[in-house]
Amino acid sequence: MSLTATTSDAPSTSRPRLPSWLRVNLPLGQRLTVLNATHGTIDSHGLHTVCEEARCPNLNDCWSRGTATFMIAGKECTRGCRFCSVETLRQPARPDPSEPQQLAAAVERMELAHVVITVVNRDDLADGGANHYKLCVQAVHERRPDITIELLSSDLAGNEAALGHLLDDIPLAVFAHNVECVRRLDRVARDPRASFDLSLMVLRRAKELRPDLLTKSSIMIGLGETDSEVTEAMQLVRAANVDMLTLGQYLAPGRPGERYLPVDRYVPPDQFDCWAEEAREMGFCAVAAGPLVRSSFRAGMLLEQARRHFD
Ligand code: SF4
Repeated sequence: MSLTATTSDAPSTSRPRLPSWLRVNLPLGQRLTVLNATHGTIDSHGLHTVCEEARCPNLNDCWSRGTATFMIAGKECTRGCRFCSVETLRQPARPDPSEPQQLAAAVERMELAHVVITVVNRDDLADGGANHYKLCVQAVHERRPDITIELLSSDLAGNEAALGHLLDDIPLAVFAHNVECVRRLDRVARDPRASFDLSLMVLRRAKELRPDLLTKSSIMIGLGETDSEVTEAMQLVRAANVDMLTLGQYLAPGRPGERYLPVDRYVPPDQFDCWAEEAREMGFCAVAAGPLVRSSFRAGMLLEQARRHFD
């Protein structure tokens, strides 16, 4: 399928200005009250969110609807990807043993119907953090067995035993892991320990281990990829039996430089619509694509979309 002429098939070198479709509004009235309550709950339980740590542009929108994406196993990541603002530490503190219960209490208090839990990489731990991730999911399920849980996991450094332990009998609806960018940009954008192929392996293996779970992945646009590379990446992700896909615009989380990659291009909404259609034609059962879409954006609605597909 051909894509619109609004994007080039060759990476550009200029730094475009922030376009109108990426502007966000501050919530008012009741929405502001809900946003403050979300903040209060997260703070009072000593939890972290990827919404804050990754400087997500949707924070006002999501939090004012009473949702947030928790980030477990610490506030620092052992990896240093060039698109991510989460702090990097080689040897972070041990995971907080009270975190599973604090997380479960916050989820209960926020009355979430679907919760997304993401993690930091823990290359310093023998199991990559798998056991702690599992304890957190189990604690939420014990407190709220009626809700659906989505885990946005690390690659566990490709440790298949750890992945097997994590997924064994875990009460999840969705196992997500992001390929993040097209394969050619691995060395440009991702920590050297991460790769497109390792991420595909984790997604494929997760589906083999737990075919009852929906799997999900995400690709950022604007890191220097071409349109044809996006299509190829979607095909490869689908070939790994991934069910759900999100695509969103990369936004540099800080001043471009050594740490952060500059934005290569801002892709207009209609181009994302084209990719969404293309992804559905490839067989993804639920797709969200748009400039402000993130892996966890309206995740409950995307899960409903996927479930309708199988009805
Ligand atoms: S899109 Fe995800 S990370 Fe961003 S604010 Fe919403 S829940 Fe948080």
